[in-house]
Amino acid sequence: MLSKVREQTSIVHSIRKNWFGKHLLYGLGTLAVRPIKLLRGGSQLLGVSHFCNISGLDSSLQIELVPCLHDNYAYLLHDMDTGTVGVIDPSEALPVIEALTRKNQNLTYILNTHHHYDHIGGNTELKARYGAKIIGSGKGGDKVPGVDIVLRDGDTWMFAGHQVLVLETPGHTEGHVSFYFPGCGALFTGDALLSLSCGELFEGNTNQMLASLQKIMSLPDDTSIYCGHECTVSNSKFALSIEPKNKELAEYASRVARLRSKNLPTIPTTLNKEKKCNPFLRTSSVEIRQSLGIPADATDAEALGIIRQAKDNF
Ligand SMILES: [Zn+2]
Repeated sequence: MLSKVREQTSIVHSIRKNWFGKHLLYGLGTLAVRPIKLLRGGSQLLGVSHFCNISGLDSSLQIELVPCLHDNYAYLLHDMDTGTVGVIDPSEALPVIEALTRKNQNLTYILNTHHHYDHIGGNTELKARYGAKIIGSGKGGDKVPGVDIVLRDGDTWMFAGHQVLVLETPGHTEGHVSFYFPGCGALFTGDALLSLSCGELFEGNTNQMLASLQKIMSLPDDTSIYCGHECTVSNSKFALSIEPKNKELAEYASRVARLRSKNLPTIPTTLNKEKKCNPFLRTSSVEIRQSLGIPADATDAEALGIIRQAKDNF
């Protein structure tokens, strides 16, 4: 029964190509299309696999979405050449174990963006079962329990031959990090940047969050953003409420609503899309400032704080 409800539809596509567009590549031979139903919440979700695409050639890194808890995503990283597997932010162990078992795979690395339970909940069980090494921040209160390899801002770490750049992105938590894979243009943002939102400011201030978001915005526009939660539809309602004339946002909002009505994920998003639609990356938008009564001479950090407060009360 469990395996039946956990069966998943796999859709393969190039993460360099438009996720929502006409470039979805189905059935590349290794991944069969099967229906999925998830136990939790009685909802249906689709697991999705992505191949990196560099210069038109598929590289050996495959990214698989693993829905966890209520609306979290863990991401399995498969290096197809060596068979090395890593997981980013395993909220819980069971869905990750099931995904690994389906492919008869081991787990070598666990990468954590921050210490919140819905991002590390599966760490202990997965480490005990597979002997995986835990990688994450060692900073203050954000120290990931059981961390084996501590990485800091600007560090480079190699995952089975794939370069991983560590970006400290504090604001949501003190030591929050994002993992950037420049070879395939993928960024794992945890709860720093979400599609159409950013994380709540639990351990940081608006200046820190602004700096983190600006750091992310300095990456290439076609960077694929893999965030920690599937909350794009609810975020779109707030975004539209303060920038109703943003046509690109309106189109994106209906597109993500359509995807969710079919139980398809809205992730990954792209940096370009977020720059055009995400209010937290649009602190200078005249329309947003007018909607929220933000003075024209307010700084971006002040505007960000007011947008954050408005969303918290939305
Ligand atoms: Zn969090």
